[in-house]
Amino acid sequence: MQNNTQLYECGVIKMDTMDKNTRGVLLVLSGPSGTGKGTVCKVVRDSLGDNLAYSISATTRKPRTGEEHGREYFFFTKEEFEDLRDKNGFLEWAQVYDNYYGTPRAFVEEVLASGRDCILEIDPQGALQVRKATDEAVLVFIAPPSLEELRSRLTGRGTEAPEEVEKRLSCAEAELSYSNQYDYLIVNDEVEKAADKMKAILMAERCRIKRG
Ligand code: ADP
Ligand code: 5GP
Repeated sequence: MQNNTQLYECGVIKMDTMDKNTRGVLLVLSGPSGTGKGTVCKVVRDSLGDNLAYSISATTRKPRTGEEHGREYFFFTKEEFEDLRDKNGFLEWAQVYDNYYGTPRAFVEEVLASGRDCILEIDPQGALQVRKATDEAVLVFIAPPSLEELRSRLTGRGTEAPEEVEKRLSCAEAELSYSNQYDYLIVNDEVEKAADKMKAILMAERCRIKRG
């Protein structure tokens, strides 16, 4: 929330204007798997602390080594996922690479209402659903510097079997073509630079008088 209180009190800024930017920014981040979304997000989150909340998605995919339920994802069975989906518990959901992924609605609403910003790290199908569901979303696309570099990052991460890497790479070009429907594009050539750009976007959106 911006500190415009004194200006409001002396009548320089109208209550209307104050009200419009008391909600947090809903930042929706997408990009092909291996682009560096998680890496860049971590730098931004470490730097902004509690002012920025990260929405933990639910998924039916199996946890990778080191991943914990409630930290990287809520790891649901297909039945659990479908149950929450049928109760309208997701702001958006999609099937990505053979598994379901979804954003629990209640957490996002609570964070935005409290005036804190919220990041969703989701695929383009989900991002476009959020855009339809609310006019307050800011869509940011993170792209790799090249497809060769994407391959090298995805392989280097070593978290997927070779056939899973190929599946993700074969989806990458189609995913990149969604970028023209986003509000901002960040090319992740260097992590620090990409993180600075994301912080600049958040800052600018916080200063915007009218969102949506
Ligand atoms: P995503 O969350 O988009 O799937 P990750 O954040 O897991 O991608 O990054 C994929 C791999 O690329 C990781 O091994 C990470 O350390 C590396 N990486 C991320 N950003 C960069 C960068 N700017 N330059 C080089 N390597 C990077
Ligand atoms: P991963 O399995 O590598 O963690 O994620 C695979 C893909 O699913 C990534 O593109 C990631 O952004 C996307 N994803 C993660 N959570 C969600 C979500 O809640 N909704 C949607 N639509 N996509 C998600």
